[in-house]
Parts: sequence; C-alpha cells; structure tokens
Amino acid sequence: MQEAGPDGLEAVFRRLIGATGPISVAHYMAEANAHYYNRTDPLGAGGDFITAPEISQMFGEMIGLWLADQWQQAGKPGLCHFVEFGPGRGTLAADALRAMAQFDFRPQVHLIEGSTALRMAQKLAVPQATWHDGLDSVPREGPLLIVANEFLDALPVRQIVRTEQGWRERVVVHNGERFLPVAGARPMDTAVPPALADSPPGTILESCPAAAGMAYEIAARLKAQGGAALFIDYGYCAPQTGSTLQAVRAHQKVDPFAEPGLADLTALVDFSQLKQIALAGDVDCLGPVGQGDWLMALGIAQRAAMLAKSQPSRADDMMAALDRLVSPDQMGALFKALAYRGPGWPAGAGFGR
Ligand code: SAH
Repeated sequence: MQEAGPDGLEAVFRRLIGATGPISVAHYMAEANAHYYNRTDPLGAGGDFITAPEISQMFGEMIGLWLADQWQQAGKPGLCHFVEFGPGRGTLAADALRAMAQFDFRPQVHLIEGSTALRMAQKLAVPQATWHDGLDSVPREGPLLIVANEFLDALPVRQIVRTEQGWRERVVVHNGERFLPVAGARPMDTAVPPALADSPPGTILESCPAAAGMAYEIAARLKAQGGAALFIDYGYCAPQTGSTLQAVRAHQKVDPFAEPGLADLTALVDFSQLKQIALAGDVDCLGPVGQGDWLMALGIAQRAAMLAKSQPSRADDMMAALDRLVSPDQMGALFKALAYRGPGWPAGAGFGR
C-alpha cells in the first residue's frame, strides 16, 4: 500500500531534509529498510522478492547438515546456540533445525530480527526461539552456530563520490519532485585508499560499516566461545568501485530513490572485507565459494533425487528448485558462501579443504 499521508516515510524524509539538509545514502537506506521490513512480510511469490529458503526446503536442510557436521566433528558440545540473523519467515531455521534433529543435535535457538511483522511469522515457524535485537544479548557461554542468509545485503551502505574538488559523501536531496543522490559538502578524502585517490570524477566507493561491525562482533564471539558462522549472500570477491545499491518491488528492479520504504533496498556484499575482518579478528575464514558449488558438495542433488522419488507428483518442481539454487546462470554463482570458524572448530564441508 502506498502511504501518501503526512506520516509516510517519503513525507518524513522531505521534512527532515527540509529542516536539516541532505541525508547520507546510508541514513536513507537504513531508514527505508527499517520501515520496509517492519511494515509487512515481503517474501514469496506474492511479495516483492524470493529467497533461497523460500524456493525449497533443501536449502535450509543443507545448512542444517553443515552445522550438524561441524557440531559432531567438534565433539558434540552439550550447550550450543543456533543463531540466525534476519531470519525472514523462519523457514531456513525450521528446515535446518529439523535436519539437525536427525543427528540428535538440538541447539538453543536465537533469532536476531528487527521487524515486528517478521518476528510474528518466525514465531509460527520456530516457536521455541528467543528473539534479540542484536548479538549482544545472545548468551556468552557455549559455542555459537551462526547463520546469515541474505542479511548483510540489507544493511546500509555508505557511498563516497569523487568530484572535481575531491571525495565527498554521497547524500540524498529532494528537488521538489523527487529524491536523488548527489555529492554532499563533507570532504571524505581521508576515507579513500591511496591507490584509488586519483580516480576520475564520478567514481563511487561503497562500503558497509554496519556489516563490518557485525562481522567483527561475530569473530570476537567465535574466538571467545567457539563455533562457526555461515554467511550466504550475493556479492563480489575483490574490491570494486561503483554503486551496487538497488531496489526490488514486486520482483522488478525499481529506482532506489523513488518511494522510500516501499521497496527492498540491497547492496552487494563485499566478501573481501569479510575475509579481512576474519584475519584481523583472528578466526579462520573459509571461502567464499559459489552457492551452487557449496550446495552440490553438501549433496543437494542427492537430496533432490530422494525428495523427487518420495513425491513423484512434485518431482519436476524439485528439479526446478535445484536448478534455481545451483545453476551458475541462476543463484549458483552470484550468491556465495563464506564461513568463519572459531579456534579448534573443524574446516566446514563444501569449502574445498
Ligand atoms: N534470511 C531470510 C530473510 C532475508 S530478508 C531469507 O533468506 O529468507 C532480510 C532479513 O533481515 C529480514 O528478516 C529483515 O527483517 C532482517 N533485517 C534487515 N535489516 C535488519 C537489521 N538492521 N537488524 C535486524 N534485522 C534486519
């Protein structure tokens, strides 16, 4: 539903910009997504976008198998916590926990979720869970098995842009008709790596301080408590320039600066940054590997064949879902898996070691 009233986010942003000046792209994205996710459940065929766990139960099951394998190899520690960031409808958690239970692995369940609407959906799927606003309130004793699927891409990115006068933060203004991004007044030259300082005017550098902060926090917890973390998202492996901010509504790409709060805003995840943070945080980093290769190494094709055999009427759907998850021209290559492991924890399956 379009919110045209005075309290819609569009009106709030216009008032804010009118009163205090342009807002940063990061501020715009953070507020727009908080509003967007809090409003309703955007997932699924009738919503705005679909994610891997909503395509097939096999995705969550493979993650459950990966975690159960980690737990077994680590000597089956008694008290363990399954922690998921941004669990959507709770589908991945439910599928993963069911797969883990087959190995008699029943960790405590902690869901980190900002949206009230989605917390309600998660409660139906995973009634035994405890909900959190962040990692801070998750217990500090017992290994953590952390999962984040399509979570980091929803976190706000900061953009800086090269102008004739030097680097500036990219900000959002309203020109009387619409919102649009422009170079702001604040100099940002000190934030630019020396190798890129002389980039041509118009060059954009993007970073995600929120993702970095979270990755540091996760690394510190794994180091202190043991366990592993699995990040799956779409992103790139080597530093790059350019804006990757995009908006999706009703399964179509739309202008990220039109109708804030009514479309899902995402940016590609910088996997090289996640690797660097592991190094700095003194945890081992596995991957990134393509989602397709990772799922195939874990045996998703065999699982699909088994499901197709037990439900012949749904065999075609099963094979179509498999193709969507693993084919390089679908989700298999753009989406990547990367894991952190705490000291003494096993090198997880599927990462080619
Ligand atoms: N992992 C799910 C959902 C992905 S959508 C799936 O794969 O289907 C992104 C999820 O992250 C939603 O649950 C959204 O509400 C949550 N989210 C986004 N930004 C957040 C934030 N800053 N803090 C907590 N949760 C957030």
